[in-house]
Amino acid sequence: MRFLLIPLMLVASLGLLLCALAQVAAIAGLLPSIQSRLSESVQMAAAAVLGGGIFAVWLPAVLLAQRINNGGRFKFSWKKVLAGCPPQMIYAVGGIFAYALINFLLAIASRDTGLAKGVRLFSGHAMVFYGMAFCIFFSSWRRPDLLRTRYCPAGHEVAHEDSFCPVCGLAVTQGAEDR
Ligand SMILES: [Zn+2]
Repeated sequence: MRFLLIPLMLVASLGLLLCALAQVAAIAGLLPSIQSRLSESVQMAAAAVLGGGIFAVWLPAVLLAQRINNGGRFKFSWKKVLAGCPPQMIYAVGGIFAYALINFLLAIASRDTGLAKGVRLFSGHAMVFYGMAFCIFFSSWRRPDLLRTRYCPAGHEVAHEDSFCPVCGLAVTQGAEDR
């Protein structure tokens, strides 16, 4: 299943890139000239691909995040989900999140026309989903052990960060986990 993460990472990064370009085009006021050059069906297809792409990456991303959190049997933690990501990546996605928030307020306040405002709002939010999904895929790729279930020597299910079984108290050794 791990090989599926590569196309998912590609789709997520492509979605992020296209949304960033749409964002730039909307802010720079280039949308009317782009719109006049593309036929209506191409415009519809582009919107459908960017919108549908969110679901295509977000659904597996949520399933992976739940799996890393042992199917919700332990407290959900983003820290666990993103354990395989370098800190710079988490800062970057935090930056995208902050940007989307500021963009939302600016777009609402701006006197942009319907299309530019719509594209700005949509692509700003879509960037968060694509960026977040990319981080979840990357984390799962770097740390495949996060996706496996850990057990204590007595066979109880244990969260990834626990050194001792919460049920019986036996030590869960690193080497004994999930192999
Ligand atoms: Zn136990």
